[in-house]
Amino acid sequence: MSEVIATNQTILVVGGGISGMTAALEAAECGKQVILVEKNPSIGGRVSQLYKYFPKLCFPSCGLEINLRRMKANRNLRLLTLTEVTAVSGAAGNYSVTLKTLPRYVNENCTACGECEKAVETLFDSEYDYGMKPRKGAYLPFNMAYPQRYVLDPRLIGTPDADKAKAACKYDAIDLGMQEKETTLTVGAIIWATGWKPYDADKIQPYGHDRIANVVSSVEFERMLDPFGPTGGKIVRPSDGKEAKNVAFIQCAGSRDRNHLKHCSRICCMATLKQTTYLREKFADDFKASVYYIDIRAIDRLDDFYRKVQADPNVTFIKSKVASITADKATGNPVLHGVDTEGYHRYSNPHDLVVLAIGMEPSVPKGAFPMDIVVNEEGFIEADKANGGIFAAGCSADALDVNRAVQSATASALRAIQVVNRVAGMEG
Ligand SMILES: Cc1cc2nc3c(=O)[nH]c(=O)nc-3n(C[C@H](O)[C@H](O)[C@H](O)COP(=O)(O)OP(=O)(O)OC[C@H]3O[C@@H](n4cnc5c(N)ncnc54)[C@H](O)[C@@H]3O)c2cc1C
Ligand code: SF4
Ligand code: SF4
Repeated sequence: MSEVIATNQTILVVGGGISGMTAALEAAECGKQVILVEKNPSIGGRVSQLYKYFPKLCFPSCGLEINLRRMKANRNLRLLTLTEVTAVSGAAGNYSVTLKTLPRYVNENCTACGECEKAVETLFDSEYDYGMKPRKGAYLPFNMAYPQRYVLDPRLIGTPDADKAKAACKYDAIDLGMQEKETTLTVGAIIWATGWKPYDADKIQPYGHDRIANVVSSVEFERMLDPFGPTGGKIVRPSDGKEAKNVAFIQCAGSRDRNHLKHCSRICCMATLKQTTYLREKFADDFKASVYYIDIRAIDRLDDFYRKVQADPNVTFIKSKVASITADKATGNPVLHGVDTEGYHRYSNPHDLVVLAIGMEPSVPKGAFPMDIVVNEEGFIEADKANGGIFAAGCSADALDVNRAVQSATASALRAIQVVNRVAGMEG
């Protein structure tokens, strides 16, 4: 890695999801020096793990590709992957930041030929597929990963597989001696865009995500639809691989609940409406989607999308907070138990598959930020003057859809530019 050069007029962006990429690009395209750090081996964030985007139902790869092209064309932007911020001190216009970069064990010579992957045998759960699929110890995080460079899982180092990977590489791209690196930089402003993580569905015990095979979370369901994903793009039951045509969606799974996340995650209603369209796409008229909900929160212009799904005769809305799920031993069907609050009758409804619309929580837990920063009760960063030259973008600020995340990122870029311009004005 060549030396990282930064000054008090540099903007640091933390997190390379859609928000961090947008903020970094907006600032860099305004002529500012930007350093974008991402803790994973590739940028792209959670959006790259979605099958399609609401409301237009286009593929996230399009948006990603446009941003990657803009990034490659911009000399003001420096990307550091496998990197996290461990400490921040100072004030707006003059922050000292410490970065920790983990070894990739693969250098810039990598052509992504994939020979190292073929040579190694050890398998690990794929983080990208939420553990639904294994990946090799030498791997490309996903097809559109950027940088297009392989990575060696640190658990491989010191094993015969690491030597096999090195021997397979014709380009001298594998460096098993790479070490963790610490860098200290001066920057003028910081944009925090570390996004969100899915609420741990296993914690919602009555729904049995940890023990009933045919109960999956909404993010896992997105991965199922990917042709390169764990089921090759098929909607099937994890228990027996049979097509799942009768699917239940449970809203507010772990959200609006004082035992889990108190807040409404705002996106999961829209995500479910979108996911019912996946069933129509795969099975035409031969499917049944049942949405169990407390109330549907489709934000402003997305109302139209809601109306379209409501008009689908194969989609039923059941106003009820599901009390529990059991598994029918003979069929493997998950059976939903509860009371329909519109007719006040009890039900025990079997389905092929259950999708839990889990909530979004901030990626960085409250109290774990490497600097003093004002966050709200849920752990999202507040727009507070006390945060000085540190601004939140996208889902670091709130549970947002992509459209709003991008707007928030653009606003943060503008605020950060104002900070570094003030510094330039004072020094000039
Ligand atoms: C089931 C589901 C379906 C959805 N479908 C849609 C949809 O169809 N349309 C839509 O508009 N929105 C959808 N969303 C919402 C969408 O996923 C978010 O709007 C989007 O991910 C926000 O992007 P972000 O960059 O703010 O966060 P993220 O996508 O979470 O990106 C954050 C990035 O920061 C990195 N990072 C995390 N911690 C650190 C750290 N400490 N240091 C450095 N880097 C770090 C992460 O690795 C990641 O790359 C959906 C959400 C869910 C739950
Ligand atoms: S590390 Fe070497 S063998 Fe592996 S993909 Fe890169 S160039 Fe190919
Ligand atoms: S967006 Fe819908 S499913 Fe998600 S927490 Fe809010 S009401 Fe519940």
